[in-house]
Amino acid sequence: MNQKSDIEIARAARKKPIQEVGDRLGIPTEALIPYGHDKAKVGQAFIRSLGERPDGKLILVTAINPTPAGEGKTTTTVGLGDGLNRIGRKAAICIREASLGPCFGMKGGAAGGGHAQVVPMEDMNLHFTGDFHAITSAHNLLAAMIDNHIYWGNALEIDERRVTWRRVLDMNDRALRDIVTSLGGVSNGFPRQTGFDITVASEVMACLCLAADLEDLQERLGNIIVAYRRDRSPIYCRDLKADGAMTVLLKDAMQPNLVQTLENNPAFVHGGPFANIAHGCNSVIATRTALKLADYVVTEAGFGADLGAEKFMNIKCRKAGIAPDAVVIVATIRALKMNGGVARADLGAENVAAVEAGCPNLGRHIANVKSFGVPVVVAINHFTSDTEAEIAAVRAYVEAQGSEAILCTHWADGSAGTEALATRVAEIADSGRAQFAPLYPDEMPLFAKIETIAKRIYHASEVLADQKIRDQLRQWEAAGYGHLPICMAKTQYSFSTDPTRRGAPTGHGVPVREVRLSAGAGFVVVICGEIMTMPGLPRVPSAEEIGLNAAGDVEGLF
Ligand code: ADP
Ligand code: MG
Repeated sequence: MNQKSDIEIARAARKKPIQEVGDRLGIPTEALIPYGHDKAKVGQAFIRSLGERPDGKLILVTAINPTPAGEGKTTTTVGLGDGLNRIGRKAAICIREASLGPCFGMKGGAAGGGHAQVVPMEDMNLHFTGDFHAITSAHNLLAAMIDNHIYWGNALEIDERRVTWRRVLDMNDRALRDIVTSLGGVSNGFPRQTGFDITVASEVMACLCLAADLEDLQERLGNIIVAYRRDRSPIYCRDLKADGAMTVLLKDAMQPNLVQTLENNPAFVHGGPFANIAHGCNSVIATRTALKLADYVVTEAGFGADLGAEKFMNIKCRKAGIAPDAVVIVATIRALKMNGGVARADLGAENVAAVEAGCPNLGRHIANVKSFGVPVVVAINHFTSDTEAEIAAVRAYVEAQGSEAILCTHWADGSAGTEALATRVAEIADSGRAQFAPLYPDEMPLFAKIETIAKRIYHASEVLADQKIRDQLRQWEAAGYGHLPICMAKTQYSFSTDPTRRGAPTGHGVPVREVRLSAGAGFVVVICGEIMTMPGLPRVPSAEEIGLNAAGDVEGLF
């Protein structure tokens, strides 16, 4: 049988009008702001009116350390949401919006895959409802106001060498990583070196995704540090009086987007913070809204559980006052093989020994997630190349860990492939067994927080940081930022900072290269290893394959 491509499956979807999808959650038509027939934003007034309604159950989907292609977290999030609806539960899905950069760079969308997708996938992967354009505009308005302030006399005494606010663009464009602005003479201002980041890496994005409402958003935007004076005192966005206009630009982007799955179940697609220098999950406002409207909400965190789930728990849950009732760890045979030392090119061949050798990676993620007090189920995301013996090996390993692994075939079969998972997850979530607690308290010193994550989650022996970095953390503590959580930025491929050390390494050191204060978003970014905030396109970008066919449909997207 020839498996259809994601876009072919998506195009064949029998979509319902978006009002019908909203109606399933009790969203009145007048509270939906339609963007065409199959997308809508949920109005702020309606969201406010939900007030004290009780929350549904929250289910987090995360994964083992992945292969470069991803392990199907989004696909499984969608599949589990459909599975819960299939067994008669009222469930909604919360995932992130897509960035244009990777869309035109490497193949791979953000809407799930196979028969577990969110539609319209073309729109979702392209401009969607314009949220990222609004974030880009708000970010760049602030950048323009900084240079304008300097131009007109610099009353705030901004040290032009210490402007930390760069510009953003939703595109992979390595030519803009390092640039000089204001060339061309007196009327163009003062030349200085700066650069562009991709929009998803903007602190404005992180602020939008963590804000409770528009007031909170404006407060966070105002708190962003944009530059320093010669005496190293910070200059805030609010000093430039940019926060009000930025909030105006973001007022629609702040409203969650409602779409549907291939099986017509509701999905909130909102926010897209970078999973390394930000926290990498669906917006707080969308997740909270979904929790008020559905009995079960399935959401996803970026990368493997060491990065994505850790930040979901320690940053998002802490700030939003929410807690997961169950966690699903997605494992694939191919990623387990990679963790067991098999090269990417050899993943197709049966190799039970390699699967077994990779299982300790899964085992550690299970133990780590349980250490947050949350029950875990492993979902084996089935690929057609998996063999019975390989699957049996994973089941046996997981059972020996005192957990359970459920084989899921949602990519091929849609919700029929996640019935067993959905039944078990609902049972666990309903049991009230979860006793969620973040890993560290707010009042723990910043360096001790970093050590806690490194030792408890990465199983490292120590954190290596220069005196300069430790002094910087102490300065921020003295300035009143000591209560902030940590946002770790490290490779997604390993528990260590070395992407080639797969499996479950121990005894490694975690070198901290740099620390950054995101005072608006409200976390301290700890950078361990290379972090690219403006990606480049590959030698053959997928943009080369994208075009319109005779019928006017998008081709080559996936
Ligand atoms: P993640 O969210 O973990 O990055 P995705 O769900 O986006 O991963 O899936 C990554 C890619 O893998 C997508 O192109 C998707 O279609 C594909 N994929 C996911 N699950 C399967 C599967 N079981 N079989 C084949 N391809 C899959
Ligand atoms: Mg994903």
